[in-house]
Amino acid sequence: MNKDIATPLRTKAILEKYGFSFKKSLGQNFLIDTNILNRIVDHAEIGENSGAIEIGPGIGALTEQLAKRAKKVVAFEIDQRLLPILSDTMSPYPHVEIIHSDILKADVREVLDKKMDNVEDLMVVANLPYYVTTPIIMKLLEEQLPIRGMVVMLQKEVAERISAKPGTKEYGSLSIAVQYYTEAEVVMIVPKTVFVPQPNVDSAVIRLLKRDKPAVEVKNEEFFFEIVRASFSQRRKTILNNLTSSLQDGKSKKEIIEKCLSEANIDPQRRGETLSIAEFGRLSDELLDRFNLKS
Ligand code: SAM
Repeated sequence: MNKDIATPLRTKAILEKYGFSFKKSLGQNFLIDTNILNRIVDHAEIGENSGAIEIGPGIGALTEQLAKRAKKVVAFEIDQRLLPILSDTMSPYPHVEIIHSDILKADVREVLDKKMDNVEDLMVVANLPYYVTTPIIMKLLEEQLPIRGMVVMLQKEVAERISAKPGTKEYGSLSIAVQYYTEAEVVMIVPKTVFVPQPNVDSAVIRLLKRDKPAVEVKNEEFFFEIVRASFSQRRKTILNNLTSSLQDGKSKKEIIEKCLSEANIDPQRRGETLSIAEFGRLSDELLDRFNLKS
């Protein structure tokens, strides 16, 4: 039996065997610490009947640890040069399937329908390429895939923004976009030393567990997110000033906006960063009616 892939020695040997050179533009920082990988998989609570979806398997460090516990692993990898390496390193694990695709362009639902019909639950587990963490997370959430959640490694600073609570400086439209769909928690802080090459920033693992229904029920989701974005457009401004300057017709409708804030029980002098998701929900429903938009 081979030693785990995620050790400095075996990783080096694999990279040398294939003459592989890292592409910074693809966010290639490979994990070389089996302990960290096992803890990531622990947080995902993968059982023997679970399916695991990975984004960016690299040479298979995390894929291997997932394969040891899951019934099936499907991994999306953009870099063609990694395919022959993965077919070598994953040869002991026939229940691992590699899809050569950019995750942002992939029809993930169709892949899951075809390849994951026989599993009890589905979890996304990944050490994400840092140049596209947010688009990947948002794509997987917005497509309402039949997943239980995600446990993913990403830049510590982004993990903190995603899981931030109202009233903190990290709280913003990203926190709300993700927490609308999930309960978010930073579960690990990870040092740079467990990657080759070492990234420039600190890393963290975040766990996102999908809610049964969104955190707040709103009449119009698109409008809700528009209001959230508008409320944070200039962090130093009050919610009233941000809404009047960012919403279409906002200036001429200042009084209406003030009225909606008061109906929603929100002081117009507060800043967006102090509003809870529930408050944004109330406010966007009030504004929707007054701005005569369709629900
Ligand atoms: N999972 C491996 C590990 O932990 O050692 C590698 C993680 S590395 C941070 C990110 C991986 O994502 C690389 O293998 C990279 O080629 C791949 N990748 C980058 N952009 C991608 C995309 N848009 N779609 C799929 N894979 C991508």
